[in-house]
Amino acid sequence: MQSCGMRITADQERAVVSSVRNELLVGGQWREAATGTEFSVVDPATGQLLCNVADAGPDDARAALDAADTAQPGWAAHPPRERGEILRRAYEAIVRRTEELSLLMTLEMGKPLAESRAEIAYAAEFFRWFAGEAVRIEGRYSVSPDGKGRMLVLRQPVGPCLLITPWNFPMAMGTRKIGAAVAAGCTMVAKPAEQTPLSMLALARVLEEAGLPPGVLNVITTSSPAETVGPLLEDPRLRKLSFTGSTEVGRALMAQAAHQLLKVSMELGGNAPFIVFEDADLDAAVDGAVLAKMRNIGEACTAANRFHVAAGLAGRFADRLAGRLGAMVMGRGTEEGVEVGPLIDEEARAKVAGLVDDAIARGAKAVVGGRPGDGPGYFYAPTVLEDVSVEALALREEIFGPVAPVTAFESEEDAIAAANDTSYGLVAYVFTKDLRRAFGAIEALETGMVGLNQGMVSNPAAPFGGVKLSGFGREGGREGIDEYLHTKYVAMNL
Ligand code: NAD
Repeated sequence: MQSCGMRITADQERAVVSSVRNELLVGGQWREAATGTEFSVVDPATGQLLCNVADAGPDDARAALDAADTAQPGWAAHPPRERGEILRRAYEAIVRRTEELSLLMTLEMGKPLAESRAEIAYAAEFFRWFAGEAVRIEGRYSVSPDGKGRMLVLRQPVGPCLLITPWNFPMAMGTRKIGAAVAAGCTMVAKPAEQTPLSMLALARVLEEAGLPPGVLNVITTSSPAETVGPLLEDPRLRKLSFTGSTEVGRALMAQAAHQLLKVSMELGGNAPFIVFEDADLDAAVDGAVLAKMRNIGEACTAANRFHVAAGLAGRFADRLAGRLGAMVMGRGTEEGVEVGPLIDEEARAKVAGLVDDAIARGAKAVVGGRPGDGPGYFYAPTVLEDVSVEALALREEIFGPVAPVTAFESEEDAIAAANDTSYGLVAYVFTKDLRRAFGAIEALETGMVGLNQGMVSNPAAPFGGVKLSGFGREGGREGIDEYLHTKYVAMNL
């Protein structure tokens, strides 16, 4: 595999796709779906077929849970150090194979290669982080208040988990869950998004080669997720559901998870406000805005969805942001110098176009962009909108595309009120040099995360997650492993 800076050939693309095992991984065996059917994976930059993968149904899902359930007791008893060592070896393998895994991700998801490389580094880092966490699962011992008894508290793996991941970060959303589950001693059934199954399949091979025992990680790919995983959610052997995806699907899954009272983690949609106070460093704010908006072509739950800028700065901020976004090179992510890839599919592009048209119909002006790209693939030009009405849908809904609506505010209170005027609560970005203002905003914002004078918060060593309709539970950081452990208390009469 050639490294960055060199041209990718069609042969290399074919080789990387055909290196993936396009079957289901169940109990350490790679096998076809029970029905023998497959579904297709498409390159969003061209609309062309990349390959077919096994199309699992409910019987395959049950077989995967059988395998996870069988492997659970042995895996829970596996020495924590060895669980960590497997993750550490997988971390090293992912880093070593950055180029091929990045190309695979760009082909199935569309993001530019440089961004795929960044995601591979981020994804690998979760394994390095959880390799350390595996040996830090602690309990406590204490004397009961009356002085007579003793209390012992221990932490144990919750048991077999169902991990459902989205298409926008096909590798990192997998390692963020799998790393924590492996470290905690849980077995699992992983189900990647139907648009991007290849990265998860490649990841499963990495873990196999790193020594993960059969049945600990089972992978099912399917074009009918509801029908396929539905029976698992009613199966008493499943003990945990960790879902990353849209709020709508998360809500439906939570209702299903109620049958068996599963332990649930929900990493859902966002509507992140990006606040620029009048004292902010404008250069830093524009840099942060480009990152917060354009990372992953705007297809990130953490993407800045709306820009609230102090009235005295709003015009200059919009012009500077438009200059930066308008200069970005759009194209197929495998090509040299490309900074903006296609959206994932036509539905996603139509949604983005609809939000821009709605804002313009309500009086907004497109400073740059405002139209779909030409030619094949699902491209939409980077767009900055100013004078956006508070009624515009782009301020209320998750845009999931390269569109930056800018609005002006008069006072600090108005800025915070506007930022909190949403049912979502994943992340907010704040730009100010004033400490009092910064802490005022940090404390008042109804979000699970805040970026202060920076346009990115994601870090495997930090607890990632939201409040309100953005979900609950945390991934990464010291909190990440807690989602896969339960607490047992022993009352001891000595
Ligand atoms: P989605 O909800 O459509 O799909 C997510 C996953 O759920 C996919 O694997 C899909 O196959 C599966 N799924 C869909 N319907 C299902 C059902 N009825 N039963 C079981 N599984 C089902 O979301 P998406 O379009 O893939 O991803 C984009 C969404 O994910 C955005 O809203 C984004 O904000 C969110 N997201 C959140 C985070 C976070 O950490 N908070 C991170 C990345 C993406």
